[in-house]
Amino acid sequence: MKAAVVRAFGEPLVIEDRPDPEPGPGQVRIRVEASGLCHTDIHAAHGDWPVRPNPPFVPGHEGVGLVEKLGDGVTHLSVGQRVAVPWLGKACGRCEHCLSGWETLCEQQINTGYGCDGGYAEKMLAWADFAQPVPDGVTALDAAPLTCAGVTTYKALKVAGVRPAQLVAVSGIGGLGHLAVQYAKIAGATVAAVDVTDDKLELATSLGADLVIDARKEDVGEVLRQHGGAHAAIALAVDDAAFEAVNAGLRRGGKLVMVALPAHGTVRVPIFDTVLNGTSVIGSIVGTRQDLAEVFQLHAAGQTKVIRETRPLDSVNECIDEVLRGQVRARIVFDLAAGW
Ligand SMILES: [Zn+2]
Ligand SMILES: [Zn+2]
Repeated sequence: MKAAVVRAFGEPLVIEDRPDPEPGPGQVRIRVEASGLCHTDIHAAHGDWPVRPNPPFVPGHEGVGLVEKLGDGVTHLSVGQRVAVPWLGKACGRCEHCLSGWETLCEQQINTGYGCDGGYAEKMLAWADFAQPVPDGVTALDAAPLTCAGVTTYKALKVAGVRPAQLVAVSGIGGLGHLAVQYAKIAGATVAAVDVTDDKLELATSLGADLVIDARKEDVGEVLRQHGGAHAAIALAVDDAAFEAVNAGLRRGGKLVMVALPAHGTVRVPIFDTVLNGTSVIGSIVGTRQDLAEVFQLHAAGQTKVIRETRPLDSVNECIDEVLRGQVRARIVFDLAAGW
């Protein structure tokens, strides 16, 4: 099988021929149909973060495909079934976090495309208990971005406790943000979309955003405060200053939810305003299996629209460059079913 492999940090990925991986006990082998490109994959390939993967490895945590082979003990999945393999490749199932519905915080977790090989390949392994069944009516190409971008933004809105009639600011309208806008609308909120490019602001409007703020020309905090301030701000732009800008637009009691991960990012939070206004700063990382099941359910019901561009996997290095230059409108999905 072919796979796109990180052999050294910061170097182009190499397309390699590898033997088909054999599923161990509790695992399945999947023939990958579609695999999304998430910014995290680029951070992984560059070794940007304090905890680094070990090259050589195959990135990708938006892999979707058909189960091809069952490992010992796997009884709840069947060959031919479509599943998605998210960032949370495996968690221990026994710790305080796993047992309290916060498996995403498990300290024993293994992350797909980071701690084990991921979806930039014709075939991949997954732990069956964490391979999420994709319902009928959700295509592999749509399921891929939902597997990280979807579940991550859906969870961020849950963490913020967004309710109808609230004002939600979504900062950064890309692969994640275009879905965050839709989940906030589903929750009944008024949505303010913040970005720095015209086409992304137009995209946000077309997906239901009530208000757009061009951070190049407008003071984000001031515009939000003119509208009473945001009950929640979802920070998705990979830029420290963008976090501070939306934080300044929170209303009293408002919540800043940090989701994007700028390399070496640090945000200055004014203590006086935070204390007097009773605001919160919360980190939110991906989502649980149940969150992903709900994301797929909403999409199967026709409530969300995935904006994506499909590419062959052998263009992976050019695609990474495009994402880094900010030229991609939403999400790149490698279409493995279409070949290389
Ligand atoms: Zn991701
Ligand atoms: Zn655990």
